[in-house]
Amino acid sequence: MALAVADLVARAREGDPRSVGRLISLVEGASPQLREAMAALAPYAGGATTVGLTGSPGVGKSTTTSMLIAAFRAQGRRVGVLAIDPSSPFSGGALLGDRIRMQEHATDPGVYIRSMGTRGHLGGLSWATPQAARVLDAAGCDVVIIETVGVGQAEVDIAALADTTVVLLAPGMGDGIQAAKAGILEIADVFAVNKADRDGADLTVRDLRNMLALAGPRPPDAWIPPILTTVASANQGTDELVAALDAHRAWLVESGTLTRRRLARASAEIETIAVTALREQIADLRDGTMLADLSAAVLAGETDPYAAADRLIAAIGAEDLG
Ligand code: GDP
Repeated sequence: MALAVADLVARAREGDPRSVGRLISLVEGASPQLREAMAALAPYAGGATTVGLTGSPGVGKSTTTSMLIAAFRAQGRRVGVLAIDPSSPFSGGALLGDRIRMQEHATDPGVYIRSMGTRGHLGGLSWATPQAARVLDAAGCDVVIIETVGVGQAEVDIAALADTTVVLLAPGMGDGIQAAKAGILEIADVFAVNKADRDGADLTVRDLRNMLALAGPRPPDAWIPPILTTVASANQGTDELVAALDAHRAWLVESGTLTRRRLARASAEIETIAVTALREQIADLRDGTMLADLSAAVLAGETDPYAAADRLIAAIGAEDLG
């Protein structure tokens, strides 16, 4: 028997991990119940700090996440983790099997960890992630860590999804060049050069400094992203990383940037949902005659594609989808 959405939300707010999981499954499955769930969750969201963590495969993201979880738990904060894989299929339950380093926290009731694939759904990462993060936020997590593998556009997208974005690099992975390419310099609020126990960490730090300097001067009140070094596997640099996150958070609040970022995020989310809905409705039209008729009219030169698109949009607006 499916639980009513209201019950799921009530239980999730009491910290029941199964209910939190089922709500995130509604997101993953793009369930028709999602709308009701989001409406029920909305009043309770907004309290969590969201931290995005991105970097190439193997730089140490899950190890770093694990050390951050431990540090936040030691402060008594409740932690939610969304490990997002934009290359895994949407829905069908992405597995936690590869996140063994986080398993030590699996039995802690103050920690909720979830993997999520976002490929193959309209809107993908930018549609699903804020909704899943909202579930964790409303369920009482103080911190939500959103971890994404840096693949193509994904690491840039994450900046639009979190209050604070941490870009993780490691020595000797050509990350410096990659960072510049992917526009990572612009999105990072904090850089962490992990695997600082390996040769070349100093070089990576220096490369980063040079690249940041080349990017030109920042306004006097701007945030200057610190470059930290960590050895996540030995839990070194954790305190500094947590301190940098806290400092950035304080700057976000004082400068008014937090509100600006969250407003930008809300409008991006509304836009994504609206565009996704429109695209779905247009896709539905392919089964009807309207799109076919308009296409034939364009081909025959009876109308032009702009006028045809206007008529399509007007028909959708009027919910006259015949
Ligand atoms: P992810 O793919 O970015 O999530 O990377 P993982 O956290 O899975 O780490 C990849 C590998 O690097 C694992 O074998 C880790 O044990 C190892 N690793 C993580 N952090 C460090 C570190 O600071 N130093 C060293 N030497 N190895 C590390």
